[in-house]
Amino acid sequence: MNEFTFYNPVRLHFGKGQITQLEKELPKYGDKILVVYGGGSIKRNDLYNEVMTILENLKMKVFELSGVEPNPRVSTARKGIEICKKEEIDIVLAVGGGSVIDCSKLIVAGAMIDEDPWNIVIKKAEVKDALPLGTILTIAATGSEMNAGSVITNEETLEKFGWGSPFVFPKFSILDPTYTFTLPRNQTVYGIVDMMAHVFEQYFHNATNTPVTDEMCEGVLRTVIATGPKLVNDLENYELRETILLSGTIALNTFLSMGSTGDWATHDIEHAVSAVYDIPHGGGLAILFPNWMRHNVHVNPDRFAQLATRVFGVNPEGKSAEEIAYEGINRLSEFWISIGAPSRLADYEIDDSKLDILVEKAMARPLGVFKKLQAEDVRKILEMSL
Ligand code: NAP
Ligand code: FE
Repeated sequence: MNEFTFYNPVRLHFGKGQITQLEKELPKYGDKILVVYGGGSIKRNDLYNEVMTILENLKMKVFELSGVEPNPRVSTARKGIEICKKEEIDIVLAVGGGSVIDCSKLIVAGAMIDEDPWNIVIKKAEVKDALPLGTILTIAATGSEMNAGSVITNEETLEKFGWGSPFVFPKFSILDPTYTFTLPRNQTVYGIVDMMAHVFEQYFHNATNTPVTDEMCEGVLRTVIATGPKLVNDLENYELRETILLSGTIALNTFLSMGSTGDWATHDIEHAVSAVYDIPHGGGLAILFPNWMRHNVHVNPDRFAQLATRVFGVNPEGKSAEEIAYEGINRLSEFWISIGAPSRLADYEIDDSKLDILVEKAMARPLGVFKKLQAEDVRKILEMSL
């Protein structure tokens, strides 16, 4: 393992009815609250009314920012920052998925500086403080509810970058599986792909002697693979939703990367694709990840073979590590296709016409740790994905 310092201060309230924890959590921070949410799913499933009733009972002064887009935009964060500054907001409550939470993270950090928030995303402005943030999660996917990361799109420059700061860890997150019942099948699948991709990003590292985190990664993957196919055919099953919800959080609350540094190149390539084409993050990952794997088997065939045997049940007898590895990757592809994920960029009507732009955007930052990628690698992975 590599040396490491671990820090994660997020208080999780997990399970049915845990929304009542708002009554204890919110008064700690003040009485002016900005509630941030997306395109209206929380109004359709009544979570909005539930939240507002609690805020009313707490006699809080409520401000709202709605319409946070999937692939949240810096312009939307700017609106939230303006409200925070003008109204002297005490706490921000994000109610929604990773997009709403990520946008809220930029709002709480951006509210404390005079510069444009995009400077935070491109690491030109340092985050030294943030308003307190609480979240109510409505989709199992990103882990944003229990990490310090955020991914923001600049719709003018067609850039999408991740950034993070310990100041934007949520103070608390409420995870009630019943709030994910209304998540449609396709979004449920994207979430499953995303959380599995997070585990892969952390599993492919260059550290040695990582048996504890290996087993943790493999355990989360096996659980998701056993649960996902049942869930997509039984969307209101509490136990299945509960299992997938916790899996998503564990997949990216950084416990899995204790002692190692993950790769994250596939996420960065996906961000380039969704910056230009605005496709769902999980959909892009389902297309790209098997091809990143195929392109990189040679880097450490044994690592891929371990994944194939322990997670995808490949029988290793009489096969080389490469053969085992490829069989595992094919099983991963088949698994994602079986639950309804896309497998080709063509599924989103993306052809090779903007390949140069995608490569250039993906190369904006250094790519990869397990394998450092050059422009020709990115091009190859994208071509394999067409
Ligand atoms: P999302 O973009 O937050 O939400 C996707 C869609 O699902 C939205 O249209 C949303 O509708 C809908 N939805 C959410 N909850 C619902 C529910 N309970 N019922 C019905 N519809 C619901 O999805 P996400 O996958 O969580 O977030 C994706 C973003 O996170 C991407 O930008 C990605 O790059 C980023 N990301 C962040 C991290 C991180 O660590 N911070 C990691 C990976 C990815 P409404 O808008 O109407 O609510
Ligand atoms: Fe992700």
